[in-house]
Amino acid sequence: MPVIDPAGQKHPEGTLVDKYGRRISYVRLSITDRCDFRCTYCMAEEMTFLPRNEVMSLEECLRVATVFVGLGVNKLRITGGEPLVRKDAMWLIERLGALPGLDNLVLTTNGSQLDRFARPLRQAGVKRINISLDTLNAERFRKITRIGDLNKVLKGIEAARSAGFRRTKLNVVMMRGTNDDEFVDLVQFALDNELDISFIEEMPLGEIHGRNTTYISSEETREQLARRFELIPSTENSGGPARYWRTPGSESRIGFISPHSHNFCDSCNRVRITAKGELYPCLGQNDAAHLLPVLRTDSDNAALRQAIVDSMGIKPYGHDFTKQMDAPQVVRFMSMTGG
Ligand code: SAM
Ligand code: SF4
Repeated sequence: MPVIDPAGQKHPEGTLVDKYGRRISYVRLSITDRCDFRCTYCMAEEMTFLPRNEVMSLEECLRVATVFVGLGVNKLRITGGEPLVRKDAMWLIERLGALPGLDNLVLTTNGSQLDRFARPLRQAGVKRINISLDTLNAERFRKITRIGDLNKVLKGIEAARSAGFRRTKLNVVMMRGTNDDEFVDLVQFALDNELDISFIEEMPLGEIHGRNTTYISSEETREQLARRFELIPSTENSGGPARYWRTPGSESRIGFISPHSHNFCDSCNRVRITAKGELYPCLGQNDAAHLLPVLRTDSDNAALRQAIVDSMGIKPYGHDFTKQMDAPQVVRFMSMTGG
């Protein structure tokens, strides 16, 4: 029997459709809340991480992914925290790479471990990588990440290219007074290295002060870039929330992720799973379904499948981030939810 949404539209049998008729085909799975960086916009300086028994085992992550794929999900992004610091992450990634029906296995990383992992990731079937890079200045990089080494990340970007990854994408969080004088250089770096690049509006996740003064809209950055590059709007869609522009003579895409200025909830096709097994149907809301207790009592995945189907009922229409950035509108840090 096909699934019929409230608007009367039909979706294939056994697929996940929310109460607004949006089909869920994309899962972002955080496999750890830990990280080897402490980016100022993402984490507090002193973070308390989850005790290990409260984190899904890799086997549990695989079960969750398998059930989602059985429900028609065909794209899965592995994220964190920093996914590549999770011990034996490759064990999981190899199995996900071999899951029939999962066409698009992708990863978001800070790049610090890519020098070592790019080749095995490629061999495991990861299709594309997003790498966070907010600056090309080593000292600034250290300030933003509190502990990170820019050189390691640059080596990681090169390792991804050598391993055969194409259309690797840089993610830049825009911060006034921190990296807004480097946006042109970051785009030039992307063009020179055949990378895509996305600029992200900072989101009010977790208790971090001072965001009101650092917020920059996509529009402002695009105007800044347009003074240097010819920007041609593109209708391309990578299945994510970014809207893209191109510049003549290059294959690189220049994207903007604008949760504030251009809300992308209408076409939302995703849910997020935290390392703790919480299913967040929306990044910007606090409602969640708790899969860990189900995983630990259910042996044949039937209850797990039902819990996931039921979670469609709590997917809200959308987030409502305002520009009031000083108060956290969501109490979780991005590293908890998985970016
Ligand atoms: N550690 C990996 C990384 O840094 O790419 C993956 C996890 S990280 C939470 C995923 C993405 O979320 C990164 O691109 C990061 O820049 C972004 N991010 C973190 N906190 C954010 C915030 N408050 N607003 C917007 N983007 C944020
Ligand atoms: Fe770690 Fe990524 Fe958060 Fe930076 S953005 S602290 S690298 S999880």
